[in-house]
Amino acid sequence: MSIGEFDLIQEYFQRQAGGLGVTLGIGDDCALLQPPSQGPLAVSMDTLVAGVHFPRQADSELIAERALRVNLSDLAAMGADPLWFTLGLTLPSADPQWLDGFSRGLFAVAHEYNCVLVGGDTTKGPLAMSIQVHGSVPNGQALRRSGASIGDYICVSGPLGDGAAALAVLKGELETGTKAATYLLDRYFKPEPQLALGVALRGLASAAIDVSDGLLADLGHICDASLVAASVDVEDVPVSPAVSQVTSPDVYRPWALAGGDDYQLCFTVAPERLTALQALKNRYPISIIGRIVKGEGVHCTLQGDAYELEQPGYRHFQASGATEGDPSGTEIKEDNPE
Ligand code: ADP
Ligand code: MG
Repeated sequence: MSIGEFDLIQEYFQRQAGGLGVTLGIGDDCALLQPPSQGPLAVSMDTLVAGVHFPRQADSELIAERALRVNLSDLAAMGADPLWFTLGLTLPSADPQWLDGFSRGLFAVAHEYNCVLVGGDTTKGPLAMSIQVHGSVPNGQALRRSGASIGDYICVSGPLGDGAAALAVLKGELETGTKAATYLLDRYFKPEPQLALGVALRGLASAAIDVSDGLLADLGHICDASLVAASVDVEDVPVSPAVSQVTSPDVYRPWALAGGDDYQLCFTVAPERLTALQALKNRYPISIIGRIVKGEGVHCTLQGDAYELEQPGYRHFQASGATEGDPSGTEIKEDNPE
């Protein structure tokens, strides 16, 4: 996008002055950044494509909010503090109304979580965006996927299944216009990156991941990286009242276990740290849902019996049946940014 590119950047994206470690922000060929602490930078990027990762017609303010929030969730999962982000934006046209909403949503989240936009690139083409976030974490304290040991408690930071239930609302499979539906859509478009908890888990959690693709898949990544297995008691997996009050366990259990889009943290804690974990449970709605065991993969039990999802790799609400460009706004993404 050549004509008007600089005006566009100035008008919509050059809105944050300074910031921790920002020697030079937007406007030159590069930003100049000084990591404020001794530890490593945690860096992560997610790309969201219209018609694949979000409905093309969705409100641009919500698109921006969600895009930055899911990126920040990766920093949370690493135990990192947000510092800066860059934005690669591809636009079919420079629509002022769309851009105004987009930058409003973007900077609302940037301010909320203290993350400064320091650069990017703006091009013309089919609507898509990439955000790269940078965070800091003290030496040796990053929460990796690979540290889980046999006997560790498996925990989640809050209810699971809201994301899948929200997609059911968007598809018209759950009643819309209710208090529950409003809550669910809010959770879907404004997932809360668990940044404060991520920091609190430094030195306590043996492994961590954010739940973007569903508990079974993401806990499976911890198991693979740590060369262990997980045993999960399905009854201990928390679901929100919005989900449990409008559906039955047959419906919401698969959502909670495999639905994705929740952006809670799943983490493991060694049994000798149980007292510290209990103390943290007083401050965050953490649930213990199982234990790390010997073997491979994630195994679920329900009242003592093995519990299998009817469809392994349950993907009902990420079905390919959604049509690209569907103006009803019910297109479903195929994979989730983690
Ligand atoms: P260059 O031609 O050197 O790549 P650009 O013209 O692409 O520079 O960008 C000019 C300045 O605006 C740079 O500092 C760049 O980081 C910033 N920038 C461009 N697009 C965006 C965007 N979407 N969000 C934030 N900063 C941007
Ligand atoms: Mg450029």
